[in-house]
Amino acid sequence: MDHQAILIEKLSEEGMLTREEFHELIEGRTPESAEHLFSLARNRAKEVFGNKVYLRGIIEFSNYCRCDCRYCGIRRSDEHAERYRMSPEEIISCAALGHEVGFRTFVLQSGEDLWYTDEILCDIIRELKKRFPDSAVTLSIGEKSRTSFEKYYEAGADRYLLRHETASPSLYRKLHPEPQTLLNRVRCLWDLKDIGYQVGAGMMIDAPGQTTDDLVNDLFFLKELEPDMIGIGPFLPHKETPFRDEPEGSTELTLFMLGVLRLMFPKALLPATTALGTADPRGREKGILAGANVVMPNLSPVENRKKYLLYDNKICLSDDALMCAGCMSGRIHGLGYEVEIGRGDAPRLWKKGTAPAK
Ligand code: SAH
Repeated sequence: MDHQAILIEKLSEEGMLTREEFHELIEGRTPESAEHLFSLARNRAKEVFGNKVYLRGIIEFSNYCRCDCRYCGIRRSDEHAERYRMSPEEIISCAALGHEVGFRTFVLQSGEDLWYTDEILCDIIRELKKRFPDSAVTLSIGEKSRTSFEKYYEAGADRYLLRHETASPSLYRKLHPEPQTLLNRVRCLWDLKDIGYQVGAGMMIDAPGQTTDDLVNDLFFLKELEPDMIGIGPFLPHKETPFRDEPEGSTELTLFMLGVLRLMFPKALLPATTALGTADPRGREKGILAGANVVMPNLSPVENRKKYLLYDNKICLSDDALMCAGCMSGRIHGLGYEVEIGRGDAPRLWKKGTAPAK
């Protein structure tokens, strides 16, 4: 066996490598070693999840944001972004439409928009859980105080996605101006976990300035946090941000990192992200074949979609919820996988013979 094959076998058996080994694995990758990695990663996903892929409906309910992340197309100082915010009623009816076409997880994502007070957010969460008791509610609304996280959890929120973005303090600073800090981002993740949420972290691949060492830092951070979900996707430039001229992230490296993550975290929920599908028309399919097991079609009203642009050329801007659900199911079936018709909780919450519940 060559050195790459030895590293991949070790990762598959032990779920971990040393820093040096990760570095060698990532830097020394070849199309052949990637195929080797993907076939082990795919099999590992099948051992845990069978041939099921989980669907989540994402509702991008506001693009107002108080943050100024240098990569993001809805950052505060982007004056060209046309801002919108959905009312609680609009959010609920959007979820109702999604429920009708079969979604059982609603991901509420937005910029950090303080128009939605904790009270308003809790009302939305409670209403969703009352109307759709068979469904999970996932929040992806940025950094909050522990008290706020506790309130949303009490109101019924099940999961929270908050990518750590990078575990390297210096890169974090390059990507995010003051007052955002890696320390607070990480504090949020540990609070969320402690409160009882199913937690998602993650990072962009090839973010401007990111090195292999930074990616290895991310892997070590993730091993410590042990999140239930890990979202990764290529960095994609947006024309109104300071990173407009930075190169697009590599699909190939993103896929490779998905394979690495699957072998490190056999039970993690790993989405094949929209950014991956934007970088490559078959990116999401390739993601599933590299070990991902979740896709997150868009449920947002079509008129808002073109305003929630974190990066340029985002896909699925004109399809409605039904079309998105149909398109994704078709793609999943095309790969020989089935769509899971349930909430699709993290394996640690599965109960023998019953539908997983919180
Ligand atoms: N405000 C929420 C939601 C952020 S958007 C929060 O802070 O969590 C979701 C994710 O999109 C981000 O975490 C980031 O990793 C990713 N993203 C943002 N801009 C991007 C870009 N230009 N290219 C690729 N991914 C991007």
